[in-house]
Amino acid sequence: MAERMISGIGVSPGIVIGEVRVRTRQRLVVRPRPLKEGGEGVELRRFDRAVSRTERDITRVGKQVRRRLGAASAGIFDAHLMILKDPMLVDRTRQLIQEERINADFAVLTAMSEIQQAFRRVKDELFRQRLIDVEDVGRRLIEYIQSDADRKRSGDRITDELMLAAEDLSPSEAAELEALRVTAVITEKGSQTSHTAILCRSLGVPALVGVEGVFEHLKEGDLCIVDGNAGELIIDPTPRTILRYTRRQRTLERFNEQLAELYDQDTVTQDGHAVELSSNIELPLELDHVIRSGGKGIGLFRTEYLYLAASSMPDEETQYREYLRAAKAVKPERLIIRTFDLGGDKQPPSMRFPQEANPFLGWRAVRVSLDDPAMFRVQLRAILRASVMPNIQVMFPMISGVAQLRQVLEVLDDVKTELREQGVAFNEDLRRGIMIEVPSAVFVARELAAMVDFFSIGTNDLTQYTIAVDRNNATVAHLYQSTHPAVIRSVAMTVQAAHEEGIWVGMCGEMAGDPAMTAMLIGLGLDELSVSPVILPEIKMLIRQLNLTEARKLAKKVLEMGEVEQIQRVLDQDLRRRVGKDPLWRPKASKQSSQGKSSKGAKRSPRS
Ligand code: PEP
Ligand code: MG
Repeated sequence: MAERMISGIGVSPGIVIGEVRVRTRQRLVVRPRPLKEGGEGVELRRFDRAVSRTERDITRVGKQVRRRLGAASAGIFDAHLMILKDPMLVDRTRQLIQEERINADFAVLTAMSEIQQAFRRVKDELFRQRLIDVEDVGRRLIEYIQSDADRKRSGDRITDELMLAAEDLSPSEAAELEALRVTAVITEKGSQTSHTAILCRSLGVPALVGVEGVFEHLKEGDLCIVDGNAGELIIDPTPRTILRYTRRQRTLERFNEQLAELYDQDTVTQDGHAVELSSNIELPLELDHVIRSGGKGIGLFRTEYLYLAASSMPDEETQYREYLRAAKAVKPERLIIRTFDLGGDKQPPSMRFPQEANPFLGWRAVRVSLDDPAMFRVQLRAILRASVMPNIQVMFPMISGVAQLRQVLEVLDDVKTELREQGVAFNEDLRRGIMIEVPSAVFVARELAAMVDFFSIGTNDLTQYTIAVDRNNATVAHLYQSTHPAVIRSVAMTVQAAHEEGIWVGMCGEMAGDPAMTAMLIGLGLDELSVSPVILPEIKMLIRQLNLTEARKLAKKVLEMGEVEQIQRVLDQDLRRRVGKDPLWRPKASKQSSQGKSSKGAKRSPRS
């Protein structure tokens, strides 16, 4: 077979060459069977056995994940256990067996489809995750009923190291990757922020998601190359390609060794200008990675993932423990906890969201928090209580104006008063910051800066709102350009306003982790960059090679340019001049560029 290359979204870096194991979901064949007289008892016992085996499975995997990755990641298994106790599933199945006199597996399937129908009627998007969970649990039950013996998953038989290709992995399957000795993951579905992507990154397993049409071209045992850096899958590579990637693997290893040497080094330019370099995390399980990559503090802790990974809103105690744990892990460096940025594409299944034509322009982030004071206050209480660790700071997302910020700060003050009255300890000097990610905030940045201790620019949203282009819409992905002069000038205006008011200003959008932008951002005067831990060592290396005077000149030049292509060309040239022709730098980390990469079909590799 000729060599073929398919593009996907590289969500976890690394290059792996090896044989692939294709995990196709076996289609469940479930047929109704009339029961013989008295057969209900037999079916009920089969069902009960399946329930207890499934419960045992979920508890076992949940325990492993909790031990290895922390409570937040294990939340998904609590949700599965709850589904297993849900009367809509359990009682209804038993009722169908007893009253309708149908076989157990068909009864489970019927109950499952009733649940799915009910959820679909409420709102498709809202209950998507819940539906996946119901399907996951239902599948396990049916498989146990049908085998009526200890269920053996095909994956459990993996003894050699293998790459795994699947349509998608359920959260519980993704959590088992390590035990299955999986060296790389390829999935047809998924995105940068899907569960699979997050877990692969945390476990250090190179991964490609969103590889469309992969199963038309891939079969069991095929030799493949997964390049998690470039987001490429090469099937049946020629010996020449294998040699090239083997060399690339070695170079990458050497490069990573060089990066590892920077672990203890400060992030300082050649002419002595210090820059704060911190990490973005979604889940506390990523703290390990932060510490391993030589990251200092956390510039953005996206707390909404605590909620998204659990079956219900994490209570005050749970949040408090997670925040405290994270603060202890990174102390004495700072931990910036961002309050829930719910809404948009982050809607926890257990929370009700209105049907909106434009969710990203609607009920999102701090707007949700202000409208749901009970939830907001629980989170603020947890953050304040955890602030006995003095490295904790709080940040509010999507602030769009002065009055709104005043309202937010009033709630914070009110919660402080409440804690004081209850004699609960907290840090009276807790630093407060806001994200600058809405154009209106850029225009009133001076006034906002006077009210807080720091700014962090969220370019993912600032780009989408400035250019009016949905960050998750592949159709307009080519218009999503962080190098648009309007975005860069907004960054410059924000930095100027912050400095005039004497506060520091950082950036936590994906732009901060784009190597081509580093020099310009330092030249624009950003005091901090907060990036994914995966890219952090490279950004550190780049900053250490920079000269502030040159970076300022570059920024000045860019600010005078009016066209995206012009700016892009100058920044790419500048990066190439500094790192050579075949840079190992990771591809742009931005979501839009990776989305634009996925191609419908396989192409002949241009290099074969
Ligand atoms: C941003 O908008 O740039 C940002 C960092 O926040 P999020 O990606 O979580 O919206
Ligand atoms: Mg944002």
